[in-house]
Amino acid sequence: MTMTTRCILCNAEHGLCLVLADCESFHCKECGESFDVADLEEHIMQLRKLVCVSRAAEKE
Ligand SMILES: [Zn+2]
Repeated sequence: MTMTTRCILCNAEHGLCLVLADCESFHCKECGESFDVADLEEHIMQLRKLVCVSRAAEKE
């Protein structure tokens, strides 16, 4: 069983697969890149920063 999500690099929908046999590695079948959990966390933090800036701008 694998879970898929949008690739953080090439943005292919369902490109990024979490390999449950090895829960620390992600592989994109579209661009062939591999990512670890730290790569994803960094990406999430950048997205969160964007959301925060966007929300702050809305209030002004
Ligand atoms: Zn990709």
